[in-house]
Amino acid sequence: MKQSFAMTFLAVLASLAVAPAAVAQAPGAPPPRPPATEIAPFETAQTDTNSWVGRFGGTNCAWFDLGDGVLLLDTGATAEDAKNLLAEVKRTVPGKAVKWVVMTHLHPDSNNGFGGMLPTDVTLFVNRRATENVRGIVQGAKGKAPTVVAVVDTVVLVARTQTLEIHATAAPAHTEHDLWVYVPASGTVYVGDLVTSTRCPMTSDRGTDPKGWLATLDRIEALHPQVLIATRGPFSQVPATDLKQTRDYLNRMLEILKEMKAKGAAEARVSGELFAKKIGDYCPLELDTINALELYRRMTPDGKFPPAKLAKTDVPAAKK
Ligand SMILES: [Zn+2]
Repeated sequence: MKQSFAMTFLAVLASLAVAPAAVAQAPGAPPPRPPATEIAPFETAQTDTNSWVGRFGGTNCAWFDLGDGVLLLDTGATAEDAKNLLAEVKRTVPGKAVKWVVMTHLHPDSNNGFGGMLPTDVTLFVNRRATENVRGIVQGAKGKAPTVVAVVDTVVLVARTQTLEIHATAAPAHTEHDLWVYVPASGTVYVGDLVTSTRCPMTSDRGTDPKGWLATLDRIEALHPQVLIATRGPFSQVPATDLKQTRDYLNRMLEILKEMKAKGAAEARVSGELFAKKIGDYCPLELDTINALELYRRMTPDGKFPPAKLAKTDVPAAKK
C-alpha cells in the first residue's frame, strides 16, 4: 500500500549525546590491513539485504530500499553518472521510485549529478549550513521541485525495511556542510570525504576546519563502526586504523600551521616547512602544500578557520 512520507518514516530530530571514545586498538603496530574491497567502475555491490553501492565514474554512490521507495546517498559527478545510477537503482529495486536523496556534501564529484535528475520532487537531505547552496534549485525550479530537509544534528529514519541515521557535522569539517550516514544494523558508516583510507584528505575547501573535522571523527569512532564507505576508493574494513590515519594527518597539519603562525612565517615558507617536517607519507608533497596553504591563509592568530567568501553553489540547477 502506498503511504505518504510522513506515514512511512518516523523522522526524529534527536540530539545524540555521543561521548568521544578512546581508540579501541592496542598500542604498537596497527593491525594488518585485510584485502581491500573495491568496486570496479560501473559495478554494483549489494552491501546488505536492502542496500547497494555502485561506482559511477570515480564516485561511490549508495542506495537503500526503504520499503515504499528508494533513498539515494550522493548522485555522482555528472548527469551521465546520475543516469547510470538511476538505471542501476531500477535494475536492483524494480518498480520503486527514488523518493529521498542525501548529500554527504556538495563537492562536484559527489553531487553535481543531481542536476541531471531535475526536475524532481524528491526530498533532499543536506546539512543545515548547505541550505543557501540548494535554495536556488528549489526556488528556481520550473515544475517539480525538491523539498529540502536541513539537518541540524541527527535525523533517524525508521523505515519499513531498515533504520538509517543521518548525522550533520556540528561545525565545518571537510567542508562547511558535511553529512554522514550510519546504518546501525550493519555497523556501516557512509563517510563521504571525511575518512580517506587510500587517498589524500582534501583540506583546501573554502570551509575546511580541521578542528571540526577531528570532532566528527570522534563521533564516528564512538559508534565502533565495522565498515566505512567513502566517496572514493575501497571500503574500509579497518575503520579504527583509517580513522586514526586521517586524524593523525589533521593533527600534524594543525601542529605545523600553528608553529608557522606563531612565528609569523610567510606563505611562501609553507612548502619548505612541510618538506622539512615530514607531515607523513599519506599525501604527495604537492597535495600537502595545497592543503596547508589554503588552511594557512584562513587561519587566524588564535588558530581558527573562518570560511572564505561563499562561492557559487556546487550543485547546478541546469539539467545537462
Ligand atoms: Zn569532498
